[in-house]
Amino acid sequence: MPLNAAGPAGPREQETVVFLPSGPQVAAARQQIAGSVWHGAPTANLITGGLFTLRPHPLPPPPSAEPPPRYKWCMRDDEGARYVPADDGAAIALAVDGCRVLAAAGQADMVWGHPSVRDPEGRGAWMKSSGWGFEEIDAGRVVLVSPDGEVLSGAGPRHIEYLIHTEIMAARPDVGAVVHTHSPAACQFAALDVPLLPLDHAGSLFCYPSIPRFALTGGLIKDQSLGRALATALGAATAILLPQHGIVTAGPDLPAAVMTAVLLDRACRTQLGAMAAGPVRAWGAEDDTVAKRADVWAPRQLRAGYEYLLRQAPSPAR
Ligand SMILES: [Zn+2]
Repeated sequence: MPLNAAGPAGPREQETVVFLPSGPQVAAARQQIAGSVWHGAPTANLITGGLFTLRPHPLPPPPSAEPPPRYKWCMRDDEGARYVPADDGAAIALAVDGCRVLAAAGQADMVWGHPSVRDPEGRGAWMKSSGWGFEEIDAGRVVLVSPDGEVLSGAGPRHIEYLIHTEIMAARPDVGAVVHTHSPAACQFAALDVPLLPLDHAGSLFCYPSIPRFALTGGLIKDQSLGRALATALGAATAILLPQHGIVTAGPDLPAAVMTAVLLDRACRTQLGAMAAGPVRAWGAEDDTVAKRADVWAPRQLRAGYEYLLRQAPSPAR
């Protein structure tokens, strides 16, 4: 028996009700559904047979080498768009979006933690002002902080730990953005004092070589010597664990730094779950993991994840 569509098989916007036969026709029906453009979860219905509804879903934005319109002022590199601001407005827009993405990813710790964007004119770092949560940040709550801690632009006080950003940017000319959060999963994981293993795609970013850890203090990075020590401990890596404190990540642009923070939090959660369930017996071998990392976390993939989270983030409300 063929599928019996009660609705027209025309425009995808229309809702179509499909009758699924039971018994021997189930396999054929499953094949037809799988080969269609419709999105749904027909398995349960295939078991019981009967009427159910399939709804078309809008296709995600196609992969693009161009920056989204709000970043049209950003530069390009060999891999397409790189979200490097060309002016103050673009830097502020990036800083706002970075906060919103971190909020959507569950990285907020009330009013603490901050992403930053390197100032295109070399004056310092654009970052949220202190006293506000990630989801509360809009363009009026972003400041430009100099390496000496002076607020050069914008209203509101700077964070005490601005030196995390300015010292890493000073040590690493390749870094265009830095993120610091108080990821609970990262603190829980760091307390175990075991290597972070490649148990999932996210974990492949933080091994071979192992992610460094900052052992000097679990307290605030509140002076230049601590900022420089943190930058030294980070070295050429893209992320570092701060035991009893949180994480710091760095990237060539904001999507890379933010997504690295999101993925580090995920990798820690994955390993915490595995270790809680029993001894960890299997993880990625070096060759396989290094090859996978290049595939799954290419800059374009990081941007795609960042844009997805940005679409999930609510708009800031005052
Ligand atoms: Zn902190």
